[in-house]
Amino acid sequence: APSAKGVNAETLKINAVKDIIAVASGKGGVGKSTTAVNLAVALASNCQLKVGLLDADVYGPSIPTMMKLQGKPEVSEGKKMVPIENYGVKCMSMGFLVEKDAPIVWRGPMVMKALEQMSRGVDWGELDILVVDMPPGTGDAQISISQRLQLSGALIVSTPQDVALVDVRRGVKMFSKVDVPILGVIENMSFFKCPHCGEPSHIFGKGGARKTADDMGLGFLGEIPLEVEIRSCSDEGVPVVMSRPDSAVAKAYEDMAQKV
Ligand code: ADP
Repeated sequence: APSAKGVNAETLKINAVKDIIAVASGKGGVGKSTTAVNLAVALASNCQLKVGLLDADVYGPSIPTMMKLQGKPEVSEGKKMVPIENYGVKCMSMGFLVEKDAPIVWRGPMVMKALEQMSRGVDWGELDILVVDMPPGTGDAQISISQRLQLSGALIVSTPQDVALVDVRRGVKMFSKVDVPILGVIENMSFFKCPHCGEPSHIFGKGGARKTADDMGLGFLGEIPLEVEIRSCSDEGVPVVMSRPDSAVAKAYEDMAQKV
């Protein structure tokens, strides 16, 4: 069915999933997956929602590590893959389907096919919200995913520096092309708080994402500092909202979940 302005795309309405939201970024390495994971866990544990997490970053799936999940999904009677669950979030990732260190050398059409399997071919059950960790960038792949999954909205993650903010603008334009509303901008690695003296350092500049959001008339959903614990918790597979629920960072993710 035609879904977006001027483009015909076969859409993938997933039964019993109320809303699908994307967590996107213009580049890799800005903390998109970290945000997706902590947001999903906060939505499940603090907002009491039924939450799924789809790792659409097929070339660099990090959800299995960040959610401490491994193994192959079982196949249900309806011939669908059963998502693997942890921290109250049902997850699906390319990382479950291929060997850990195997490179994925597929081209576009194969990737779209895999994503179709990983979205519509999954027995998600009833979900209030499916969080999609998008592949980084703002190209064809992101456009196809946005259309096919019929996204309800997108969050854009950025670091504060100018080069990253250019990508925010690109991302906003891309989503508007396919009529996906932007739910807001998240600034990650906003500042580094010195563990010795407590002084904040604005390594990548100050307030850039908030200003860009304001300039573009978009919501600003919060700042996440650069913190060793965020990285170490991710590497250990226990998202910081789970392992340090009383921390300021966990509160920031919880606020974000409330706003979404
Ligand atoms: P992306 O999905 O954008 O590629 P990731 O979420 O995988 O980015 O983050 C890249 C790396 O940076 C990971 O090792 C992650 O643990 C780390 N990281 C992300 N955000 C933060 C943060 N706020 N503080 C410290 N480390 C972070």
